[in-house]
Amino acid sequence: MPSTFTHTFDTPSFKGAVTINTGLFINGEWVDPVEHSTIDVINPATGKVITAIAAGSSKDVDKAVAAAKKAYKTSWGLKCPGSVRGKLLNKIADLIEANADEFTALEALDVGKMFGTARNSDVGSAIGYFRYYGGWADKVHGQTIETNENKVAYTRHEPYGVVGQIIPWNFPLSILCCKVAPALATGNVVVMKPSEITPLTALKFAGLLNEAGIPPGVVNIVNGYGQTVGEAISHHPHIDKISFTGSTITGRKVLKASAETNLKDVTLELGGKSPSIVFDDADLDQAVKWTAHGIYFNMGQVCTAGSRIFVQEGIYDQFLGKFTEETKVRAAAAGDPFAQGTLHGPQVSKTQFDRVMEYIDIGKKEGATVHIGGERHGQEGYFVQPTIFTECKPGMKIVREEIFGPVAVIIKFKTEEEAVEAANDTTYGLACSVFSQNGSRALRVAHQLEAGTAWINCSNSTEIPVAFGGYKQSGIGRELGQSAIDTYTQVKGVHVNIGLKL
Ligand code: NAD
Repeated sequence: MPSTFTHTFDTPSFKGAVTINTGLFINGEWVDPVEHSTIDVINPATGKVITAIAAGSSKDVDKAVAAAKKAYKTSWGLKCPGSVRGKLLNKIADLIEANADEFTALEALDVGKMFGTARNSDVGSAIGYFRYYGGWADKVHGQTIETNENKVAYTRHEPYGVVGQIIPWNFPLSILCCKVAPALATGNVVVMKPSEITPLTALKFAGLLNEAGIPPGVVNIVNGYGQTVGEAISHHPHIDKISFTGSTITGRKVLKASAETNLKDVTLELGGKSPSIVFDDADLDQAVKWTAHGIYFNMGQVCTAGSRIFVQEGIYDQFLGKFTEETKVRAAAAGDPFAQGTLHGPQVSKTQFDRVMEYIDIGKKEGATVHIGGERHGQEGYFVQPTIFTECKPGMKIVREEIFGPVAVIIKFKTEEEAVEAANDTTYGLACSVFSQNGSRALRVAHQLEAGTAWINCSNSTEIPVAFGGYKQSGIGRELGQSAIDTYTQVKGVHVNIGLKL
C-alpha cells in the first residue's frame, strides 16, 4: 500500500500539518510503483531529507497511458461536454484556493521559495490557470468556411487524446497547472511527470482530483526520473501529443524520441539567456527595480531570467551603483524561506548550487569582474549570494550560457543598433526587456529583438491570457492564452457535399 507523509510546519508564515500521499496516482487511485523504488526529497534551505516518494518506471507509464486511454473513451473527450469540463476545472481551482496555504508551504519547503512570493505567484497562478481554462472549455469553436454553392465546409478543433507532460522544478505547481488545465479544457487526458527534485505539490494536487469530481484516469501523475519515466512518456506509442518544459538539452531528446517513434506532436518550452536593455532615457529607479526582479526573482531560476543586462553609457555608472544597492538589499535578506522579510532563498538542489558556483568560477577565470557577491551564503543549504559580473566580453560562457542562478552580467553599450545586435547574439530567444521612456524607441527595439516575449518597462511579468514561448532554441510552440487551446487541439476540416454530382 502506498504510504502517506505528514509534515508539521511551525513557521512564522504557516503553522499546521500537511499530509500527502507519496505513491503514484494512476486511474484515480494511489498505487505503488511496479518496481518499488523511491526518490529522496531534499529541503534546499537545509540540505536535509524531507521524505521519500515513489519512483515509477516505464511499466507504470504503460499503466497510466492505458488508464488515460480508457478514460478518454468513456468519461472525457466527447463524452464530457465542454460546459461540464469547465465546471470541473473551476472546482479544481476552488480546491487549490481552499488549500492555498498548504500548497504554498509545500512549495517553500521543497523548492526553497519565499512563502509570500510563492503564495501570490506560484499558487495564485495555479488557481488562475484553472479558472481561465475552465472558462475556455465550452468556447472551443471551429469555423464555417465558404467554398462554393455545392459545399458546406467547417473545421473542428479536436483533442489529441492522451497527452504526455513533463515539467521542471522551478515552478512545480504553477507549470503543472499551466499544462494540465488547457489539456483538460480541450478534452484531452493527461499523463504527467513532475520533476524528481520537486514532487510534493504535484502529489498534493493529485490528492484533490477525486474530490473535484475528475473521473478516474483523466489525470495520472507518475513521479520518477527523466531517464525512466520521462523517456517512457516521450517514446510512448499511444501518446499523441507531448508538452515538455525544461532544458534545451532534454528538449532535443524529447523531440528525437518523437521522431523515432510515432511522430507525436511536440511542444517545447526550453531555456533562455534573456537580455534587458536599459537606455539613457529610462526611468532609472524603476529600471533598476525591474531588472533586479528580472534576474533575482526565484533566485534566478526562471527560464525568462533577464541575465544579460545591457546599459547605455550615459547612465551606466548610475545604474550600476543603484543596481548594486538593490543587490545588497537582497543579499542582506537571504535566509529562511518561511521567515518574514526574506528576499533571497536557496538554489533548488546541490546540483544547481554546484552548477551556479562553477559558472561564477568560470566567469572569474574568463576575466570578468565580480562586482559584488560571487560566494556561497551561510553554512547550511544551497544559498548563493546575488552576484553581479562586469567587464564581460561577448564570447564569455557567462554571457552565452544559461546559468539559472542569481548571476547578472552587466554590459555597457553606446547605440541602439549595437544593443539590438548584442542582445540578439544568442542561440536562445525566450524573452527580452526594454527600458526607455521614449515609446517609439521602446516599441521599435522590442520588435527587433528575437524573442517570444518582449517586456517594455518591466520584466518577468507573464500574464495567463498572453501567449508564451520561445524563438530559436528556446522552444517550439506556444502555451498560455488562446495559444494553449490551439496547442492542445488538432484541426479537422470537414467537407459536406450538398449538390455536386459526378
Ligand atoms: P531538465 O531538462 O533537466 O528536466 C526537465 C524535466 O525533464 C524533468 O522532469 C526531468 O526529469 C525530465 N527529463 C530529464 N531527462 C529526460 C529525458 N531523457 N527524457 C524525458 N524527460 C527527461 O530541466 P530542469 O533542470 O528540471 O529545469 C531547468 C530548465 O528548464 C532550464 O533550462 C529552464 O530554462 C527550463 N525552463 C523553461 C521554461 C519555459 O517555459 N521555457 C520554464 C521553466 C523552466
